Amino acid sequence: MITHLSPGYAPGVLWQETATPHPIAPQPLPDAVDVVIIGGGYCGLSAATELAQRGRSVAILDAHDLGWGASTRNGGMVLPDLKAGPESLTKRYGELGLRLHAAVEAAFDHVEHVIAAGSIDCAYERTGQLYLSHGQRAPAHLDALAIELASVGSAAHVVRGDALRAEVGSAAFSAGLVVERSGGLHPARFHAGLTRLAAAAGASLHPHTPATAVTQAATRWRVSTPRGDIDAEHVLLATNAYADSLVPALRRRVLPMGSFIIATEPLAPEVAQAVLPTGRMCFNDRHLLWYWRLDDAGRMVFGGRKRLGSVGLEEARDYLYQSMLEIYPQLAGTKVERTWGGQVALTLDRLPHCGQVGGLWYATGCNGSGVALNTWLGHRMGAAIDGEPLPAFAELPPRPIPLHSLRRVWLPVVSAWFHHQDRRAS
Ligand SMILES: Cc1cc2nc3c(=O)[nH]c(=O)nc-3n(C[C@H](O)[C@H](O)[C@H](O)COP(=O)(O)OP(=O)(O)OC[C@H]3O[C@@H](n4cnc5c(N)ncnc54)[C@H](O)[C@@H]3O)c2cc1C
Repeated sequence: MITHLSPGYAPGVLWQETATPHPIAPQPLPDAVDVVIIGGGYCGLSAATELAQRGRSVAILDAHDLGWGASTRNGGMVLPDLKAGPESLTKRYGELGLRLHAAVEAAFDHVEHVIAAGSIDCAYERTGQLYLSHGQRAPAHLDALAIELASVGSAAHVVRGDALRAEVGSAAFSAGLVVERSGGLHPARFHAGLTRLAAAAGASLHPHTPATAVTQAATRWRVSTPRGDIDAEHVLLATNAYADSLVPALRRRVLPMGSFIIATEPLAPEVAQAVLPTGRMCFNDRHLLWYWRLDDAGRMVFGGRKRLGSVGLEEARDYLYQSMLEIYPQLAGTKVERTWGGQVALTLDRLPHCGQVGGLWYATGCNGSGVALNTWLGHRMGAAIDGEPLPAFAELPPRPIPLHSLRRVWLPVVSAWFHHQDRRAS
């Protein structure tokens, strides 16, 4: 398999190159604030805006540029998605299950509201999503999920045959579930908009300022950085998959997992129309899933992971190109312009978690669907730090990943099992 590369091909994040970050003037670190937020992605920025609007003094620290993590690298799919429908969640968690589902729907509404109210120019469109099954047998799980979503008033329907072909120009699938309440955006422009809102609310923003230690001093916290220390009443850890050794107990709760994306050259309008006539956000039903969409310039943006565990950028690129052609053989010869990767944060129960760890506030565990969720979690954690109730996810028992430090040993075994199951289901 030859991956066709455009003459200007380079590894790099398409979104970062096609957005203008909100300018941040260098400023000294404050000596003391009400809240220090560690991590300047969607979650940290949303928390900062909420807190600053409530009159709290806030400083955001990020080890890199704000947004350097997953928040400018993702697929831009705004999905009210918890990997399980409301009924399945209720079977597992009782009444809490319904509140978890309500939370993810609230997250979707919140993002649409922030974009509209904050006039964020991020090419947002409510496209709907298409969850596609390769299964040769009747994919009953799609029908079941449609019924579950309908039971809580979410418009969803299964498409097969001609209706399926009207959604996706591919013969690789036996059925698809259309969920209307989903959308797509430009991740880095959305991040730039959230940065503008946080700055306008009065938060102080400090890129290239890693937090190297957090220590308790009486009832307050001292956050150390190479640029000096900050004294704070509260600290929020908004580091998601990029949690480092700062708070080992938090790091052990998430498994960072690489996910990669290729972006092709813009497709000719008639080709784009043929491969994705309705412009939905698409993903399939494999353990090692693929996700894809068109961006606002008509590029095919196609993501996934070849296996759990480490994968080089070129290997990921070639795998994704080949996978794209499995779905769309008609795209053979289409040139790739960019490849990049980032980390998603997996948790044992595949759900986000938030609350307190050792007296520090935290929100983590996007499980690959954090554009809506982590934005909303940041907003709600900001309110919680100011005294409001915690989001429902705080009621889930935290479960450290077993043998976290030995994951390089056991991940290949899990990966092989996933491949086996995916092959059997196809
Ligand atoms: C390739 C890819 C595709 C994805 N696609 C989608 C999608 O289509 N839809 C969807 O819903 N979700 C998707 N996601 C997930 C989504 O991007 C994330 O859930 C979301 O961006 C997480 O935001 P965050 O603010 O919690 O964390 P991040 O944006 O990851 O920010 C964490 C930040 O913490 C900083 N940090 C860590 N430690 C320290 C420290 N000690 N001191 C200072 N700073 C520190 C890091 O530098 C980083 O910038 C995808 C993720 C990836 C990687």
